[in-house]
Order: sequence, then structure tokens, then C-alpha cells
Amino acid sequence: MALLEIENLSVRLAGPDAARPILDEVSLHVAQGEAVGLVGESGSGKSVTCRAVLGLLPGGAETSGSVRVGGEDVLAMPAERIRALRRTRAAMIFQDPRASINAVRRIGDFVTEGLRAGGTPYKMALERAVELLEAVGIQEPRAALRRYPHQFSGGMLQRVMIAGALAAEPPLLLADEPTTALDVSTQAEVIAILARLRAEREMGMLFVTHDLELASAICDRIYVMYAGRIVEEQATAELFHRPRHPYTAGLLAATPRLESETPPHGIPGRPLSLADSPPGCAFAQRCAHAHDRCDEQRPELRTLDGASVACLRAEEVG
Ligand code: SF4
Repeated sequence: MALLEIENLSVRLAGPDAARPILDEVSLHVAQGEAVGLVGESGSGKSVTCRAVLGLLPGGAETSGSVRVGGEDVLAMPAERIRALRRTRAAMIFQDPRASINAVRRIGDFVTEGLRAGGTPYKMALERAVELLEAVGIQEPRAALRRYPHQFSGGMLQRVMIAGALAAEPPLLLADEPTTALDVSTQAEVIAILARLRAEREMGMLFVTHDLELASAICDRIYVMYAGRIVEEQATAELFHRPRHPYTAGLLAATPRLESETPPHGIPGRPLSLADSPPGCAFAQRCAHAHDRCDEQRPELRTLDGASVACLRAEEVG
């Protein structure tokens, strides 16, 4: 059984946006010990997918499909059970640690919060927090527990957030653009910490990013998302060797590489939201391989040579 199984998840926002779907039949899974990437441009639906897993969708959002964590459907869980799930079974690391950690509370309060809510005695939770801060490379962890967030750099604070997320040893970690706000060398350190902790703890990880190259550094498999839908899924090496969807190929061509003699070139046009998408392929207006039927016929996700791809012309272009 997969740790995380999302099946045909569709989401519509409430209120004036009720007619505007933001996710359309998204399916993905993460097994124990597996690192899985969810990659796409801003607005493609990656973060909404992550938030659905933790029951963090905006109030009144309409959903269909299922989101199973350890076999239990989050969409059907009462609020109290969802809170317990966030504490013990699935944790999330957010993009901006400064926006996610309360500025007026000490680091020790943040890291021990989940443990104490689960009934761990205060002293025991503090000792555990010291171990966790050591594990993510924080110097002098006992002193760090007494400090406040403004006394840490962005990279150090992201390490603190990882320590807090892992406090209750959740089997599933959701990392939503965890290095976007960091400089390149700090980014590499945080990725190395995540990779090591994931391997040591046999955790499943859903790693959300707009950066395919970054995803390849840590992920076994990658899902590519566009306009609220999964458009491709493959093992990482195969995806880089032979992308089957023109959007994936475009993302790869837009990635700068030191060893490449050709300069990177971006995908023309701008990404559409699902609500603005034509009835056929949402990528048609930006796709060099688009055909008349691409505007009218919706490409369904199908299996092709071990990959999953939603493109009408995948055999010809991939
Ligand atoms: S279905 Fe058509 S427009 Fe869409 S990605 Fe494939 S070739 Fe391009």
C-alpha cells in the first residue's frame, strides 16, 4: 500500500470562484522510502495538491476523488483527526520559513510543539529537539532552543523548520518549494539534509518545485503538472533522457546547463489556469507540435513505454 494515494482529485474554490476548477482529476502516489517530484510553473496546482493532503484547502472548497494517507481518506476525515494526521503522519515544509514560524516564539517552542501536543513530557521533548537540531546541522542546539527566529539566517531557519516537521517522525513529508527562498549554496545544503534524512528514516517524500533540475537531485520519480492536471509521469532518469510531453521537453530546454553549448530557451507564452483553458489541450497555445484536433480533444493521461503522458501526439513528438 502506498503511503500517499491521490485518486482523481478535482478541486473547485467556493464563492465567486465556484465555477473555476483549480485541480482536475489529479492522481499520484508516493511509496514508503520514495522521493517523488511534483513539478510545474507557478499556478499549475502543485501547492493546492499538497494542501489537500493535509486538509488545508480554503474553507468551502468543493472536492471530488480521494486523498488517502496510510489508507485513510483525508477528504472524509473529521477536523480533529486531520489535526492528528498533521502532527504524526504527514508533515509539511513550506517555501518561506520566516512566514511559517511565529516570530515571537522561541525556536524550542516551535520544534517541541508537535511532540508536546502529542503528550510527550516537556523535558523529553526538549531533549528530542536537541537531537533534531543536531540532525539538521544546527550548531550549539541547546543554545539555539532559546533563540528567536530573527536570530537565524533563512537557511538556518529552513533547517529549524525541517527539524520541527520531523519531530514526531511522520512517515510522509511534503516539501513545498523548500529551497526557493534560499541562495544556491544553502539550497544545496538543505537538499542534502532532506536526502539524508529521507534515506535514514525511510520516509516517503513529495517534493514540490518549479525546477526540474532540482527535482532530479533528490527524486526517484517525477510528475509534471500543467494547468491543474498531471501531464506526464516517469522515473527521473527516463524523464530527462526522453520527455514524452512537449511541456516537459520545454521545461528541460529552459533549464540552464553548464555542459550545454546551446543557451536555454523559455517556453513561449504564459501558463494558463485550468479555468482559462480551452476544451482541448491546455498547452495547445504554447506547443510547437499543436495540431487542429489539440484545440478540441482533451488528451487523457495514458501509458506509453513505461511513462504516463497526456498528449495526443506523444508517439510522434516524444
Ligand atoms: S496534445 Fe497537442 S497541443 Fe497538447 S501537448 Fe500534445 S501536441 Fe501539444
